Amino acid sequence: KNLLANRVKTLTPSSTLAITAKAKALKEQGIDVIGLGAGEPDFNTPQNILNAAIDSMEKGFTKYTPAGGLPVLKQAIIDKLQRDNNLTYKANEIIVGVGAKHILYTLFQVILNEGDEVIIPIPYWVSYPEQVKLAGGVPVYVEGTREQGYKITADQLRAAVTGKTKAVIINSPSNPSGMIYSREELAEIAAVAEEKDILIVSDEIYEKLVYNGIEHFSIAQLSAAVKARTIVVNGVAKSHSMTGWRIGYAAGNADIIKPMTDLASHSTSNATTTAQYATVEAYNGPQDTVEEMRQAFESRLEKIYPQVSAIPGFHVLKPQGAFYLLPDVAEAMAHTGYDSVDAFAAAILTEANVAVIPGSGFGAPTTMRLSYATSLELLEEAVRRIDAFVKSKW
Ligand code: PLP
Repeated sequence: KNLLANRVKTLTPSSTLAITAKAKALKEQGIDVIGLGAGEPDFNTPQNILNAAIDSMEKGFTKYTPAGGLPVLKQAIIDKLQRDNNLTYKANEIIVGVGAKHILYTLFQVILNEGDEVIIPIPYWVSYPEQVKLAGGVPVYVEGTREQGYKITADQLRAAVTGKTKAVIINSPSNPSGMIYSREELAEIAAVAEEKDILIVSDEIYEKLVYNGIEHFSIAQLSAAVKARTIVVNGVAKSHSMTGWRIGYAAGNADIIKPMTDLASHSTSNATTTAQYATVEAYNGPQDTVEEMRQAFESRLEKIYPQVSAIPGFHVLKPQGAFYLLPDVAEAMAHTGYDSVDAFAAAILTEANVAVIPGSGFGAPTTMRLSYATSLELLEEAVRRIDAFVKSKW
């Protein structure tokens, strides 16, 4: 008898975590591996946030909170959305959950019926397709090519919509490409969403990591009508270097937020109370550490981008946000005798001792993702190693 549910039969583990585990195993054997797989900032959580967490525990705030989040945290999020994004929400339009990842999981559970389609731009964050499938939905992929800056166009979106389409996911700044949709591009996409009456899931987790003077713009800012069909998903993991605290949230129509909260009340209950208090401080406290971390990422990017571009057969667009580079390595693979990016990345790991994430997990199988959430010294050494590896096989 098969004891497993059908829904897990096609479930694949996160490719990001797989290579990281392999790199860790090599490190344990004493091999000096440089990991460029990281999906998290390499800074400590700022001290004022740690202090707020400790303070809340000492005051005895260690019990359950409402399933959808502490009122004081919802207010801090409401203030943040107003201050940073010029978006006005009420408390019943906010849910706090266990990281943006689980917020997205809950969202798809709430909006999808069996067979409903969700449009996912390629290259995508690994968890979107799996989460959609776990909710009974069907991922429909639309390719944002390198020539298009790894973004989809409104025409592509229109062509992909069917009678079963429920939503489109927009992740800007993007993991893995680091690209950002301009206000005009978002307006065109939103127009299609309105014309076709579909929801917009706007994953803005990398909002604070934008470079070259670019300002983040949320698609929900376009108009009240667009806001009404958009669920903004965000969190403090990347902005405040709080990945392990597991706090994320959604802001959107109360008709969607309410069942998400009800579902959370039967699955997670509230996100960890201490982490919620820490997040209150993250949003209400001083924001200078957020900017300092952003600047550190930007200066690394400025140094490392030309070096990665100079590796033979690597074609890489300059990212505008997040902390990833996504070189297209088709030419490098062709010249070094690898026919899949998984094999190429595996060889880079075992022969050059650098862990990179193959783009096959992002729907972009001629690319690989290099995270620059590590020190400049290690980054430069990693690039030297990859460069030497490619040249030795050319
Ligand atoms: N969305 C994207 C695009 C991400 O890259 C990540 C984290 O890797 C998340 C959401 C999830 O963030 P959290 O740590 O808040 O669950």
